[in-house]
Amino acid sequence: MTKQSYAVIGLGRFGTSIAAKLYEAGQEVMGIDINNERVDEGKVSVTHAVVLDSTEEESLKSVGIRNFDYVIVAIGNDMQASILTVMLLKELGVKEVIAKALNKRHGQVLEKVGADWVIYPERDMGERVAHQLLSPNVLNYIELSKEYNIEEIIIPLSMERKSLRELDLRAKYNVNAIAIVRNESLIISPSPDQTIQNGDKLVMIGHREDLNDFAHIK
Ligand code: ATP
Repeated sequence: MTKQSYAVIGLGRFGTSIAAKLYEAGQEVMGIDINNERVDEGKVSVTHAVVLDSTEEESLKSVGIRNFDYVIVAIGNDMQASILTVMLLKELGVKEVIAKALNKRHGQVLEKVGADWVIYPERDMGERVAHQLLSPNVLNYIELSKEYNIEEIIIPLSMERKSLRELDLRAKYNVNAIAIVRNESLIISPSPDQTIQNGDKLVMIGHREDLNDFAHIK
């Protein structure tokens, strides 16, 4: 993996978990917070940590913020600070600014001032939990559009020991298998002769409703 540089502004629970994951993946991560207790290097997993107020242009310049490949604004409760920070980052020429929004209005303003990607952690996590409760056999999913998903689905018992040809997923369920997840490995573009084994999961692409029907087969 090529090494990229990231600055995470706001070291609350959200910011520190992003910073730690990136750092564990061997990336260069600068952690920034206005509160010096949050910047205690023993507590956060970052390459370096700095105390500064991200609403002050000079402070952002002093750490060379525009040289970072990505800047993540993980300030939530102080909406004014979050908006001002995103605005300054874009004015200073940061290429990719990712910002956390508390609600739709906040998110719209962040987009207006130039955020390249706005995330809604509570809303998105809530949707994921609901999805998981409604479809316990779906382990993972990606929304491709309003209608189409890619989903990783636990194979129903009735399909074990059958080949993909026999199952004829496309004709019977209107879904396409793009991979089989077997133990820790992936069989990409499985051939029709592949036989489904106990514990396999199928990665499938299709219309949401068709995938949902498939996920409820016993
Ligand atoms: P989380 O929900 O991620 O745990 P939190 O509830 O602790 O966050 P938030 O208000 O979302 O608090 O702020 C996250 C972090 O952003 C805090 O540690 C806060 O000190 C920091 N922060 C707030 N304003 C600024 C600012 N102007 N400059 C730098 N850091 C800031």
